[in-house]
Amino acid sequence: MAPEKERCADMGKELEILREHLARHGMNLTRQRVAVVNAFLKTDGHVTAEEIYQQLRDEGSRVGLATVYRTLSLLTDCNLAIPRSFGDGTVRYEKAYGYESHDHMICDSCGSIVEFHSDCVDQLKCELLTQHNFVVDRHRLVLYGICGNCRE
Ligand SMILES: [Zn+2]
Ligand SMILES: [Zn+2]
Repeated sequence: MAPEKERCADMGKELEILREHLARHGMNLTRQRVAVVNAFLKTDGHVTAEEIYQQLRDEGSRVGLATVYRTLSLLTDCNLAIPRSFGDGTVRYEKAYGYESHDHMICDSCGSIVEFHSDCVDQLKCELLTQHNFVVDRHRLVLYGICGNCRE
């Protein structure tokens, strides 16, 4: 993951990418969309549309839930957000711009999400792809179990 300082400097870049994407599709970067993007960029980890909506409400913003959903889907379209489903029927979004690809471990007991990046997984993936003559454009690996805290 990129260091904190770099992330802050990049914030404007994300809005710029979204603005260009919207312009190509004849849409505008409205104040409401900017508010959703800024709220999303402030989050860490994996957040639901409802959580962003709630955060905006707490800050006194009157952005509707539908706008939050639409903006997150726009961010996904231009690769600034990645939607993740971890099997509980909820879609969670995480920031994608400037972040290294990673996989997840989910605790079945407390629901905590651990991110990891493994060169081993990358290498195994390479081997399997060669072995099966497969070209991949994305992958998803989620390990389920019980975290250290819950086992204590
Ligand atoms: Zn746990
Ligand atoms: Zn993640």
